[in-house]
Amino acid sequence: MAERWDAVVLGAGVGGLVAAFDLSRGGARVLVLDAADRPGGTVAGTTVMVGDGRTVAVDVGAESFATRTPVVGDLARELGLTVVDPDLRGAWAYAGAGTDDDPARALPLPRTATLGIPTTPWAPDVRRVLGIAGAVRAWWDLGMARTPVPDSLAAWVTQRLGPTVLERLVAPVAGGIHSADPATLDPRAVAPQLVAAYEKTGSLLRAASTLADAPGRGNTKPGSAVAGIDGGMHRLVEALADTVSSAGGEVRLGVRVDGLERVEDGDGGWRVTGTAGAGTVAAEAPRVVVALPRTPALALLAPLLGPELPEPGEAPGSRGSDTSRGGSDVRLITLVLRAPVLDVAPRGTGVLVAPGADVRAKGLTHASAKWSWLRSQLPDGVHVVRLSYGRAGDPEPTVPPTVEEAVADAARLLGVPLDPSQVLDHLDTHWPDALAPARPADRATADDAAHRLPGLAVVGAWVAGTGLAAVVGQARAAVEGTRAVGR
Ligand SMILES: Cc1cc2nc3c(=O)[nH]c(=O)nc-3n(C[C@H](O)[C@H](O)[C@H](O)COP(=O)(O)OP(=O)(O)OC[C@H]3O[C@@H](n4cnc5c(N)ncnc54)[C@H](O)[C@@H]3O)c2cc1C
Repeated sequence: MAERWDAVVLGAGVGGLVAAFDLSRGGARVLVLDAADRPGGTVAGTTVMVGDGRTVAVDVGAESFATRTPVVGDLARELGLTVVDPDLRGAWAYAGAGTDDDPARALPLPRTATLGIPTTPWAPDVRRVLGIAGAVRAWWDLGMARTPVPDSLAAWVTQRLGPTVLERLVAPVAGGIHSADPATLDPRAVAPQLVAAYEKTGSLLRAASTLADAPGRGNTKPGSAVAGIDGGMHRLVEALADTVSSAGGEVRLGVRVDGLERVEDGDGGWRVTGTAGAGTVAAEAPRVVVALPRTPALALLAPLLGPELPEPGEAPGSRGSDTSRGGSDVRLITLVLRAPVLDVAPRGTGVLVAPGADVRAKGLTHASAKWSWLRSQLPDGVHVVRLSYGRAGDPEPTVPPTVEEAVADAARLLGVPLDPSQVLDHLDTHWPDALAPARPADRATADDAAHRLPGLAVVGAWVAGTGLAAVVGQARAAVEGTRAVGR
């Protein structure tokens, strides 16, 4: 016998929980199923020891959200959470192989509009990073004829603004956000608004200015076009899950969903099946939201959409069978350090590392400098830093660094002496296949599913694009759309 619900949501990441929250607010009793032992997906918190017998909750997944749209801030306030700004000192970039020809260097990142692309090369903070020759080359963009947008962000930036902008600004910033070499990032997937602005203005600098001037962007320091939540981003998923439960729904964990089919008899709708330990789960509902990552989502959707319906340019039969990893195998190392030398935040809120630099970490967040809510909970001289390892396209799984390696990388990136004996606690959080950019063909598949399968919506980063702003906005719109379709 299958359980009956008003809606079943597959996956309790942010996408699934936001969908469940909106369905609950509309009066539906919602069942959310997730394979993990906690809700939230890649938004997760845990506690660390900070000395003096105290513990503090920290984020070990997403820790901020982009403020280019108000969607996440609005949602947080709706849930009664307090939105907070990061420290204004901004982030730094680290580049260089550490050789005579290419010495290692750390530079404060200037104001940029998006993905490290400056709005003008002549702002003093930009010129300091680019040098006169790099700034002059970037400035040429304004006089160049419009050129077609290539498939690679690196090629686009080099073509329009020159190699110095790529190496010193775009590689560390875009690499930090997408965990990938800009050569592998398609501008249409990672910066669709920038591409649209470029198509209008014919200049990459002008396009970047348009975005920087957009409402809500402000003329901000890198890393400050984001906001956080007092107490950590994990508070958002906890509040969403609590609200769904108190509205008569249920967030059921430890259930791996493996079947989705139309129910033709009785009330019709959808039947979801899954396994929970040695048992099985079956639930039926007129509405279903698929909020799983790409591979399990496509495994469920492919039989419903039919393999004979390829996307333009896609080989017949390939839909749903492409399970290639587009993401990175991320290891996030959290270090709690007794290090008064970090009180001055020597690298502001953190460091983005350009590919090819002489440290294996691809980025460092000085979390206790970035977030005052965290700083205020730590004993004097104690700091929390997060280092991330693993870039998209790396053929092998990321080998987790030892504590000694992580401390050595932190010392190099922060430009201060640090020793493993200063570590009060450390965490190694593994995020396999994380941060895969959304592909246009995937968006088309999700639209196709929503259009052709009544009562079904597809949400999540593989459709919306990486990041909470993209995922929350798309989930809310998709659920709204499903209601309109009805059964
Ligand atoms: C280390 C890291 C740092 C990040 N930092 C930021 C940041 O600072 N700011 C930002 O905006 N974004 C950040 N992101 C990206 C952001 O977290 C994601 O884009 C977003 O949370 C994705 O949400 P989602 O619901 O689409 O997917 P997910 O969070 O991946 O959720 C999918 C859920 O599906 C479940 N699931 C999978 N298979 C099954 C199955 N068969 N049955 C049942 N359940 C299943 C999983 O357990 C998971 O809970 C970060 C990501 C990572 C990994």
